[in-house]
Amino acid sequence: MSTVQIGDLVIGGREKVMIAGPCSIEGRDQLLQIAREVKAQGAQMLRGGAYKPRTSPHSFQGLGPQGLVYLKEAADETGLVTVTEVMELEELDLIMKYTDVLQVGARNMYNYPLLKRIGKTNKPVLMKRSFMATIEEFLLASEYILKEGNTNVMLCERGIRSFDTMTRNILDLSCVPILKKMSGLPVVVDPSHGTGRSDIIIPMTLAALMAGADAVMVEVHPNPKKALSDGLQTLEFSHFRELMGQFDSLCDYIKAQQDAQDNKNLRGAAS
Ligand code: PEP
Ligand code: MN
Repeated sequence: MSTVQIGDLVIGGREKVMIAGPCSIEGRDQLLQIAREVKAQGAQMLRGGAYKPRTSPHSFQGLGPQGLVYLKEAADETGLVTVTEVMELEELDLIMKYTDVLQVGARNMYNYPLLKRIGKTNKPVLMKRSFMATIEEFLLASEYILKEGNTNVMLCERGIRSFDTMTRNILDLSCVPILKKMSGLPVVVDPSHGTGRSDIIIPMTLAALMAGADAVMVEVHPNPKKALSDGLQTLEFSHFRELMGQFDSLCDYIKAQQDAQDNKNLRGAAS
């Protein structure tokens, strides 16, 4: 199993990681407020889109370069590691200067020129599965980055299309142990985009941890109803606090189970 290290933060090791923040960076105050709150609740990484891949061209498209400046400021103040999406080759050099981790969105999983170019950098990458990608296509897409020499790749399950309209997507948790087994890369689960429903983020986060996810990524906003994107799947602060309480308890349980298993294996090896 490989790990991705960003400063002191390790993804894919014993400690599970929480990545939280707004869907879109909407302004300086919004982002700083969210960054302070998620940091206080124990998140290690801050997410937030400056360049937004919206389904409709009429929807908010993100603040662009100004959003990157706010992201860097929030990181400098809180010490949180940051992740933001890169949509186009032309934006890559600029985005690299402002963020710790590059996100490849679901819509760009098949953008092979972009993947190859990211593969030539040494920036950590959070690569999302496309809505319609098989696990094999997802793994092969990640190899476009790995093959160029960048091995700092995390794979992110964010839900795939189905016929059911109760959820925005189907969160495919069965892919978590498969991806880990087949790639050895750290796996992240995004139950926000995976379900589209804030009311089921907590149980799906816990299920993701039990399935073996190394990190979970959720959307958080002080007032989800007013969010400029993805409000329906976004947690308000009190809801995020509740999530972190359960996240921490389950992580403690999983670590205790692993310790017990390690001890058992050691005793077995010694006898
Ligand atoms: C996001 O993380 O904000 C996002 C747009 O995700 P996806 O690419 O999975 O739709
Ligand atoms: Mn979103």
